[in-house]
Amino acid sequence: METKPRIGFIGLGVMGKPMAKRLLEAGYPLTVWNRTRSKMESLISAGAKGADSPKEVAEKSDIVITMVTDSPDVEEVVLGPSGVIEGAREGLILIDMSTISPYVTKRIASQLAERGVKMLDAPVSGGDIGAEKGTLSIMVGGPKEVYEKCLPILKVLGKRITHMGPNGMGQMTKLCNQVICAINIQAVCEGLTLAAKAGLDLEKLLNVVTAGAAGSWMLSNLGPKMIKGDLEPGFRIRHQLKDLRLVLEAASDLKLPLPGTALVQQMLRAVEAGGLGDKGTQALIVAMEKLAGFKVSQGNEPET
Ligand code: NAP
Repeated sequence: METKPRIGFIGLGVMGKPMAKRLLEAGYPLTVWNRTRSKMESLISAGAKGADSPKEVAEKSDIVITMVTDSPDVEEVVLGPSGVIEGAREGLILIDMSTISPYVTKRIASQLAERGVKMLDAPVSGGDIGAEKGTLSIMVGGPKEVYEKCLPILKVLGKRITHMGPNGMGQMTKLCNQVICAINIQAVCEGLTLAAKAGLDLEKLLNVVTAGAAGSWMLSNLGPKMIKGDLEPGFRIRHQLKDLRLVLEAASDLKLPLPGTALVQQMLRAVEAGGLGDKGTQALIVAMEKLAGFKVSQGNEPET
């Protein structure tokens, strides 16, 4: 029987923890590290080894996966003091599954290449539910042969996995994904606000509309949360703002106008300014409620 590569996992947040758990359950020897150590405990109890630093994770792994927040965070855990690069040896593979800048990704990949480390950028879509069920969409940039080598691991985490080109192209794909997601959430909010104002039964509305041409992941998964006033993340408002910042930076670099995205960014910023940055993106409904001057959802009380 072929031995499975040793995997290291860095970043055990909403997404990272269930992804690491799936890899452990699939039989991969797993070493984990998280800045807040308490988040390592459940995985260590389930059989993973805990490390004291990203450097130690790299020393004990053949493939290291990072799932942290933003570009500077990936730079810190990979290139910083006690980072992956300090424990790396020729042949190590880094798979960054966080959503970060395509430009920073290229820079990290070339710094790692100088040390004989190959990198894939492999951001994901499908939310915490997709992370738990292993049904994520995974958009991969990097050398094709490294992608093929890592495919069995990515298949534990995702359902649709696509190689998009060299390093950075996975992240660029994710930014396109985020444009479509963001404007879609705004559309769901506006549809529900109109429905509430018109006195429609929102449960019935969701039931019929999700089955038609307006159906979408956002409508099916976030619509019910919006009408219940369940604002728990999921995907945090502040992370979506981070992604839209990356989108608008890329669009600016490419001299491309994205007016819908810019509008949704401002709406999300209003939600964050109201203190809800750590809530899920369905909290965009709160901004709509303020604009509309009435409450759409049953559970949250917008400030007046
Ligand atoms: P999260 O719950 O906030 O977790 C973030 C993780 O990153 C935590 O483990 C955090 O450590 C770690 N981290 C952040 N900055 C760090 C630093 N400088 N050094 C070391 N560790 C650091 O976020 P998440 O929802 O899992 O998202 C992770 C990534 O996946 C983000 O890039 C996000 O955009 C992307 N993503 C999220 C979703 C979603 O639905 N949630 C979907 C697709 C993609 P601590 O525990 O110490 O804070």
